[in-house]
Amino acid sequence: MELKVGVIGTGAIGKEHITRLTNKLSGAKVVAVTDVNEGSAKEAAALCGARVEKSDKDVINASDVDAVIVTSWGPAHAASVLAAIEAGKPVFCEKPLATTAADCKKIVDAEIARGKKLVQVGYMRRYDKGYLQLKEILDSGKVGAPLMIHCTHRNPSVDASYITSMAVSDTAVHEIDVLHWLTGEQYKSAQVLFPKSTSLTHSKLKDPQIMILTTESGIVINLEVFVNCQFGYDIQCEVVCEKASIKMPDPLFPSIKMDAEYSTAIETSWKRRFIDAYDVELQDWINAAKAGGAAGPTAWDGYLVGLGSDALVKAQETGKVEPVNAGPCPSFYR
Ligand code: NAP
Repeated sequence: MELKVGVIGTGAIGKEHITRLTNKLSGAKVVAVTDVNEGSAKEAAALCGARVEKSDKDVINASDVDAVIVTSWGPAHAASVLAAIEAGKPVFCEKPLATTAADCKKIVDAEIARGKKLVQVGYMRRYDKGYLQLKEILDSGKVGAPLMIHCTHRNPSVDASYITSMAVSDTAVHEIDVLHWLTGEQYKSAQVLFPKSTSLTHSKLKDPQIMILTTESGIVINLEVFVNCQFGYDIQCEVVCEKASIKMPDPLFPSIKMDAEYSTAIETSWKRRFIDAYDVELQDWINAAKAGGAAGPTAWDGYLVGLGSDALVKAQETGKVEPVNAGPCPSFYR
């Protein structure tokens, strides 16, 4: 039987997920959509033969909607996810789960009270082949314990609306989630350093930034976020362990020998870099939602990212090492 899906938020990624679900993946069909921008909702509905509903609650409570995808503007996520939990329907929520850790915690509490895992958060890097390869090696135990992780998250450029705090809330959130998953550890502290700024930024964006996270056991993670690096979309991750250093592979491009030069292309688009991961992630959600539940990153994981983000944004402002206190993972999520 096909999973009947309602989509809340039909901007860029909403339309992409609708297209993915309609043309590429199996086992699901979009039956209803909604957006604050009615024209956008109509365009999205035309992509999949769905109807347009007036509000998120109309989508969530529709009798023919089995499960919900939330791809609206970040500040609107929490209300829609809470309403889906109240309705007892599986919900896939694009990152962030909510824009504050306090709102993420409300979702965690609501899900525990409901007694069933219904929420999957869209941290798709856990489905990326490169990160999965790293995790397999780390989990094998043959390389010893991880001690340090060096990462880069570089974008060619960003538009003028991107400000300093977004280096955390829009960009580093992916590393905050995937590195917690990779190490199996929660974070203990967060700090941000500001190197000399590139001249290719603007007054409201300090770029690049170096973010330092430490985990419960003392693993130190240094993450360079450089969103006007010009040359490509460059995601690097090297885990230094007791007996080995493991580096995530770069996307494969042919090398070209020409005019006395030897060159290889560099990926420039985040969408292309993680396109396979988005497909696997959403198929995993469809399969779990058909069984009435959720897979992948949980609401608790979304909460941990919220706490890590809040601490990093505070560290940007104070210049100090800020604590991250999640407390023990509830048995519900273990
Ligand atoms: P988008 O194209 O801006 O669409 C988001 C929707 O929210 C649109 O309907 C937009 O309406 C609406 N919106 C924007 N600003 C608003 C405001 N100030 N007040 C009320 N509504 C507003 O964004 P998107 O790129 O699709 O992103 C949607 C969500 O997915 C975000 O949370 C984003 O972080 C997440 N995302 C995740 C990934 C990932 O890698 N996992 C990638 C991309 C996006 P208008 O059409 O009127 O602007």
